Parts: sequence; C-alpha cells; structure tokens
Amino acid sequence: MTFNELNLSAPLLRAVAEAGYESPSPIQASAIPPVLAGRDLMGCAQTGTGKTAAFALPMLDRLTANPAKKKGAVRALILTPTRELALQIGESFEMYGKYLSLRSTVIFGGVGQAPQVAAIKKGVDILIACPGRLNDLVGQGLIDLGSIEIFVLDEADRMLDMGFVHDVKKVIAKLPKVRQNLMFSATMPKEIEQLAAGILHDPAFVKV
Ligand code: AMP
Repeated sequence: MTFNELNLSAPLLRAVAEAGYESPSPIQASAIPPVLAGRDLMGCAQTGTGKTAAFALPMLDRLTANPAKKKGAVRALILTPTRELALQIGESFEMYGKYLSLRSTVIFGGVGQAPQVAAIKKGVDILIACPGRLNDLVGQGLIDLGSIEIFVLDEADRMLDMGFVHDVKKVIAKLPKVRQNLMFSATMPKEIEQLAAGILHDPAFVKV
C-alpha cells in the first residue's frame, strides 16, 4: 500500500513525502479510507502507531474539499488530555497542512489565555484543545463550537483516567448534532465502549 493509493490530495501527498514517510502505517491504511468517506471511526491504537496522521490527513483533505458553512467559524475540534499531546498534534497539523490554507491553533491550561484568544480571534479552522481550558473559553463566549464539522476524541481512555469525562461531555453538548466523529483509545474497557456508543454513529472499527 502506498499513500498515492489512499486518494489523498496532491498537497497532502507532497507534505507526507517531505516528512519522509514511505508508506502508510497499518492504522493509516485502515483508517484513512473510511474517514475520507465521511464515516465515524473508532480507532484502537497507541501513540507511536502513526494515529495522528491517520486522522489529520483525511480531516485536512475533507476540510479543504468542502467549503466552510460559516465564515471564520471553527470547523474541526481535536480534544486531547494533555498539553504535550495537544502541542504534538498541533505540530503535525502544521506539517501535513503546510501546502493547504487551513489554520489551526492549540488551546491548553496552565498558561495565560490572552495569546490563545488572540489566535482564535484571527480565525482558525482547526482547534486542538484540552477540555478544561476549552470549556473555560467557551463559557466566556470566546469560542463558538456551533460550526464543528469533525470532532476527534483522542486518547479517550486517558481522558477518563484523568477525570475529564464531565468536561468531555460538556464540550460534546455544545457541538452540532450532525458531524463526523472520530475516537481513539489505546484500550477498550466497558466505560470507553459506553462513551463510544453515545458519540459514534455506525462507526468503522480499526484496531492495530
Ligand atoms: P503518532 O503515533 O501519531 O504519535 O506518530 C508517531 C511517529 O511516527 C511520529 O513521529 C510521526 O511523524 C511518525 N509517522 C507517522 N506516520 C508515519 C509513516 N507513515 N511513516 C513513517 N513515520 C510515520
């Protein structure tokens, strides 16, 4: 399997080639086609398997192919448990999207909110966020989640372990009902299956 066979657009293939990736990892080969087709996805995979590109590449492709419904609105949200992961995912979106014109920014707590708010006010398409700070900014009326087209819940099991389930549910309640949902978890305990059942609609299931 090659990246060319995955039907990704030329600007993404170019960025992937420049990153030095020769072929898709197993999670990428299995997850990219259903996500590109607009399906919901449950991915059971650890960090290090290439799961970030497995969701970032098809998301960037779809966001580019489909026009924004509302000008200036945030179109995609990736929820992740830690600042380190948020920053890593942010860098990945920058790298894979370098030949596209989508803008992304990263939101997390423990630092002043002013630079994050300034970035959002300039307009972002893709938000990579930790749930606490995101709810904080949404509560202040500084972020509107009403135009989200694609929602990703990353590291769902860690999210639960860290006690973020209430925060995650609060975020989800603010999203439009019709949207594409992707969920990733390294493990699949009962609680994750229950959470997935409440979020995902007829998901493709990928395990690596
Ligand atoms: P992740 O699991 O998303 O954190 O990715 C782990 C590492 O693998 C990152 O450093 C990526 O840059 C790298 N990577 C992702 N996909 C590929 C690929 N298809 N070929 C080579 N390296 C990759």
